[in-house]
Amino acid sequence: MRIILLGAPGAGKGTQAQFISEKTGAIPVSTGKIIRSAVKNGTPAGTIAKRYIDVGRLVPDEIVIEMLKERLKEDDCKDGYILDGFPRNISQALALDKMGIDIDIVIDILVFDSDVVERLCGRRVCDNCGATYHVDAKPSAKGELCELCGGILITREDDKPEIVLERLRVYHAETEPLLRHYNAQIKLRTMRSFPTVEDTAKGVLAILGESAV
Ligand code: ADP
Ligand code: ZN
Repeated sequence: MRIILLGAPGAGKGTQAQFISEKTGAIPVSTGKIIRSAVKNGTPAGTIAKRYIDVGRLVPDEIVIEMLKERLKEDDCKDGYILDGFPRNISQALALDKMGIDIDIVIDILVFDSDVVERLCGRRVCDNCGATYHVDAKPSAKGELCELCGGILITREDDKPEIVLERLRVYHAETEPLLRHYNAQIKLRTMRSFPTVEDTAKGVLAILGESAV
């Protein structure tokens, strides 16, 4: 099973990808995480990517598409995956179609712009494994440390308010047109993002149930 999660930054895609993974066994694949790990490792692609991430822009398609291709070749992806953060514009969607990848379902998680800034400012990310938390909606049981690996929880540079506004602008201009693309393929399901992870997950479950995936 192959699922795409769409939605603005802060919609909760990463958290719901994790939830869907636990329910279905499909593997979460986040291009944001892949890119950040390349940045951290100081690879040539990561060094270029950092310039874009830091200002809230999209990393150039060639770089992201290549990274995604490599990731999907890995063994754990063979029984299905949940794409979180890809595609992010029409040309990435066309690249996916060209790779011959048959997507079963595209879930759009709707969130109000006004909620996004507040959510992202409260977001904390594990510096070691990339797991995400939120100070109110999803706090770590270990306080300032990651529940999963004990890593330190940090606020991402691009979760600063002025960068968040730019990411929202880019989302509306470049990513939102994908809704039409996937609606035309009759793959699009839309649901709301609620303040709590559990309520949002109910929407995901309803969609998965009715799609019998
Ligand atoms: P969010 O969805 O909350 O914005 P991500 O972790 O998905 O966070 O992405 C963080 C940043 O990584 C983006 O702002 C962008 O610069 C880069 N990025 C992630 N996925 C892509 C993609 N498919 N194409 C281009 N840039 C991407
Ligand atoms: Zn961790």
